[in-house]
Amino acid sequence: MTLVCYPDPLLRRKAEEISEFNKELRCLADEMAELMHRSKGVGLAAPQVGRSIRLVVVYLGEERGDLVIVNPVVECLGGEVVGEEGCLSVPGVLGKVVRAEKVGVLGVGLGGNEIELEADGLMARVFQHETDHLDGTLFIDKLTPASRIAAEPQLRQMRQGS
Ligand code: ZN
Repeated sequence: MTLVCYPDPLLRRKAEEISEFNKELRCLADEMAELMHRSKGVGLAAPQVGRSIRLVVVYLGEERGDLVIVNPVVECLGGEVVGEEGCLSVPGVLGKVVRAEKVGVLGVGLGGNEIELEADGLMARVFQHETDHLDGTLFIDKLTPASRIAAEPQLRQMRQGS
């Protein structure tokens, strides 16, 4: 399993809903979690490993561990905060993005169980960032104007494949 990186068009596809909760899905989630930790990330979406399906893995911290959500839907519950983001698929680029401060997350667990939670702060940001991946949206699309200008030379280099 390897990371798909910008500007790979796989990252721009709208990912498919998942309807089968089988062993293959559990294995994929396990491998994604492993890759996420190995890469020191706090979230990973299936399109980032070349699978265009609606599956994300998020690291909730030492106490709560990893959370796998299938077909996640994020609802903004208010507030707007600017914070710095990066992405394992856009290595080396950091920039400021405005996100909702508080979100509700709905989805399904690997066992078909319903997941419903609220998050704020960094976790709210991670859920928004990862769910965006499922719609082909990257954080670099949402950078503040100043961050966009700062990131552009690096992004251009990546697009030129150097
Ligand atoms: Zn990302």
